[in-house]
Amino acid sequence: MSEAETNVKKQIEKARVLHAALGAACLADPEVGGLLVALDLRVKASDSFMVSSGVAMACGRCAEATGSCCFKEMGESYGFIELLANRLLGAELPRERELPGGCFFVGKKGCTLKTRHSFCLNYFCPELIAFLGEKTVLELQRQVGEQLSLGWELERALTRYITRSIPERL
Ligand code: SF4
Ligand code: SF4
Repeated sequence: MSEAETNVKKQIEKARVLHAALGAACLADPEVGGLLVALDLRVKASDSFMVSSGVAMACGRCAEATGSCCFKEMGESYGFIELLANRLLGAELPRERELPGGCFFVGKKGCTLKTRHSFCLNYFCPELIAFLGEKTVLELQRQVGEQLSLGWELERALTRYITRSIPERL
């Protein structure tokens, strides 16, 4: 197993352990819980727009034909705080890579994460941009911007919460 693969699995395991230890308390914390609710609503609205605008269909077809643009290296940059945020939002974190050569978090039905990095949300290939048109791309970028901002606030709040609760875990 490569060092990068070992590290992804370590980050996932750390997120699982923290979720088991602090998950319920995080949900009850006013700041973290409030941000989780806001981000969950934002992600659901963005996902719904991805479907209605045709992004989900276009990227799904592309994934079947070419394996999509979810490369191996992209999943390797996720740390345990982002993965804990995903667990708290209900994402099932994979134990093994499903698609050989692809991102650790991509499955046959697409990305298994709920809150993602900027490069995962902001990349629209030229073919997709041409298919969607400028107006739809601008609306997608607006929604993605809100999602990223809430995700960033949640990660900061989670870090503060863990530092207060069990600093030895950071
Ligand atoms: S953004 Fe483009 S390359 Fe990436 S999955 Fe969608 S259609 Fe394919
Ligand atoms: S969108 Fe999801 S599956 Fe694709 S690269 Fe990002 S984390 Fe991986």
